[in-house]
Amino acid sequence: MRILIVEDEKRLAETLADIITENNDIADVANDGEAGFDQAATGIYDAIILDVMLPKMNGFEIVRRLREHDIKTPVLMLTAKTELSDKIKGLDNGADYYLTKPFETAELLACLRAILRRGEHLKAEAPVFGDIAVDVSASLLACGDRSVGLGAKELELLRLLIANKGILLSKETIFLKVWGYDSEAEINSVEVYISFLRKKLEHIGSKVKIIVVRRIGYRLEVAE
Ligand code: CA
Repeated sequence: MRILIVEDEKRLAETLADIITENNDIADVANDGEAGFDQAATGIYDAIILDVMLPKMNGFEIVRRLREHDIKTPVLMLTAKTELSDKIKGLDNGADYYLTKPFETAELLACLRAILRRGEHLKAEAPVFGDIAVDVSASLLACGDRSVGLGAKELELLRLLIANKGILLSKETIFLKVWGYDSEAEINSVEVYISFLRKKLEHIGSKVKIIVVRRIGYRLEVAE
């Protein structure tokens, strides 16, 4: 599982990341609302832990915009505010669960399990583009009756490209989304994995191409 934490209190963000990593999941952290929204909008996360009071864009706004963009990633709202009206506002905006600070680790993990169970239904909706479909749980890329296995990074890269269909993604953005800020990988990994994916698309006879535009970014296209 890959979980996004949007929290401006850095110490709390680190604690949350530790809890998630100890639970054998991957945690990415965004420290302000705008960065959080941009990362969440890629659609690559299995769940989002979202603070309400954030610089640049508050949590209510983030979840509302995500739902507007048809990003259905389960959201766990986290806040110091205890007023009932805030909880209702969060849920009305499309949050799945609401947890009030301070909380116990066990309580957080229980909430995460609850929203991830809800996310399981969403995974049934396989990412599709042109003549290809991705089976995320089986890590398979299929075109008609032909399919090929995907490595973990190939799967994340393809999900990212499909989630952003029509949008040009820079090499830097792809690198940050797929490999992460703390990665020891080289940025050239992007080109290497793009070429792996191209070979696999060709292998299954798909008309989908990964186009590089003026050396500034990549996007998916269906060849005529
Ligand atoms: Ca805050």
